[in-house]
Amino acid sequence: PAIPGLEALQHQDVARLLPEPGAESDKYRRGVVGVYAGSDRYRGAAVLAVAGALRGGAGAVRYLGRVGDMVVRAHPEVLVHTGPWDAAGRVQAWVAGPGIGEGSDPETAMGHVLAADVPVLVDADGLRHVTPGAVRERSAPTLLTPHAGEAAALLGTDRAAVEAGRLAAVRALAARYGATVLLKGSTTLVCGPGGTGPVRVNPTGTPWLATAGSGDVLSGLAGSLLAAGLDPVDAASCAAYLHGLAARRAAGAGGPITASGVADALPAAWRDIR
Ligand code: AMP
Ligand code: MG
Repeated sequence: PAIPGLEALQHQDVARLLPEPGAESDKYRRGVVGVYAGSDRYRGAAVLAVAGALRGGAGAVRYLGRVGDMVVRAHPEVLVHTGPWDAAGRVQAWVAGPGIGEGSDPETAMGHVLAADVPVLVDADGLRHVTPGAVRERSAPTLLTPHAGEAAALLGTDRAAVEAGRLAAVRALAARYGATVLLKGSTTLVCGPGGTGPVRVNPTGTPWLATAGSGDVLSGLAGSLLAAGLDPVDAASCAAYLHGLAARRAAGAGGPITASGVADALPAAWRDIR
């Protein structure tokens, strides 16, 4: 039986929403996504977020952060910027936060990202740098992608309270921050800004996704869909849907998967939707 206020995203909705290149496409028109991720301590988060972004439908990925050498070794197709912010060039959306760690550099960088006049997805460590006021002031949409622990920190409550009331939590976050919110976990929920509209529930997840780095792949993927022009609620819910399908693909007949394996299975998941 349906739970009031919850909508399951349907296969045909995703098929309709996913961008498909045509004869007129070029890489810039398909969208450029900027990824600000990684730190000396969490290098892999940058590689995984970029892996998701490269398979999300944008035409190009620009990386900004401390581990550009490693990112370009893993993904030679990425444009790496190590210099000042201006060098990051134009992007149509930002993914910011996976593995950036703490400190004044992330604080400064997050300030620049949040000031940009393009959609911004904030995940993981980046979520430490958002306040309701700063998000509400933004001129373009914001998408927050916390897991239950991060959601609890954003709401000033504890993880158990979020887990006990996931629907209420995603609505409260969307209302407080005036942002679209994707709440990750055993049931992934997506709520648009304001928090009063219908909440989308993702039907494709699998507990095998509870593995290190899988959230970083999801944020890159969702950011890429934002850059390709999807509305934040659609970008978030299509990303969760594809991510779950890719995890099932990666698991094959069943068994442990890796975040890299999920990223590698994204093209097959994409094809399953067509
Ligand atoms: P993160 O917590 O950022 O590493 O992201 C973990 C990813 O795995 C998210 O996409 C979650 O929705 C997903 N995930 C975690 N635990 C579960 C679970 N028990 N069932 C389904 N998906 C899960
Ligand atoms: Mg995470």
